[in-house]
Amino acid sequence: MFFEDGKQIPDTISGGIKKAEIQERLNKMISSEEVEAIKSRQKHSFSEYDVAILGGGPAGLTAGMYLGQAKLKTVLIDPALPGGYMGITHQVSNYPGYVEPQPGFMLAHYMSEQAKQTGIDFKVAVDVTSVDLAKKEIVIDEFETIKARKIIIATGTSLPATPNTLWIKMLPLSEAEIQPWKKHSLSPNLPGK
Ligand SMILES: Cc1cc2nc3c(=O)[nH]c(=O)nc-3n(C[C@H](O)[C@H](O)[C@H](O)COP(=O)(O)OP(=O)(O)OC[C@H]3O[C@@H](n4cnc5c(N)ncnc54)[C@H](O)[C@@H]3O)c2cc1C
Repeated sequence: MFFEDGKQIPDTISGGIKKAEIQERLNKMISSEEVEAIKSRQKHSFSEYDVAILGGGPAGLTAGMYLGQAKLKTVLIDPALPGGYMGITHQVSNYPGYVEPQPGFMLAHYMSEQAKQTGIDFKVAVDVTSVDLAKKEIVIDEFETIKARKIIIATGTSLPATPNTLWIKMLPLSEAEIQPWKKHSLSPNLPGK
């Protein structure tokens, strides 16, 4: 929550709040000259790692866990909170070791705690400003450069664009519930089932 002259500004933010999101709101409260002056004083930081992992979903977290156990200096970077799609999935089924479906956010929590315990660094809820795979340099939040000997890309995939794929068929939804979604995104080249 933000306050100006003792009054709360309606714009509130929650969840995995990024530094940039806070900065954006604060910048609105001061003059553009002050914003520029603050920016000019910001120092660029630089750190080096054996491995940088882009993406903190199940793949990135698992890679992190093993790299941490292997005592490699590792950083995991994600613009969101750790967990990837798993973290926002209501019930995760078919997860080895669990007979019943599990809440995705809890699996994400345990997986990220397990990875953290191995001593790797987490840079989450950050803006990934740039990735230079040739130089093996990643810039986050504009002013932080991370150089790594190796970069693992574990940025996952995006949801399929049509409801005719396996995913939508797997969701426990009735035809009536799927209809609005179908209308919105059905490709004209695909049969309407
Ligand atoms: C609705 C739904 C239900 C599902 N249910 C099940 C289930 O019941 N059982 C099951 O086994 N699987 C299920 N899955 C599949 C499972 O979620 C995925 O297989 C799994 O999340 C893939 O993991 P991942 O780490 O490869 O990618 P993701 O989970 O996609 O994670 C990728 C991460 O990369 C980050 N990222 C993206 N771009 C960048 C960037 N430029 N730099 C840094 N980081 C970036 C993202 O923020 C994200 O955290 C489900 C998926 C969905 C969408």
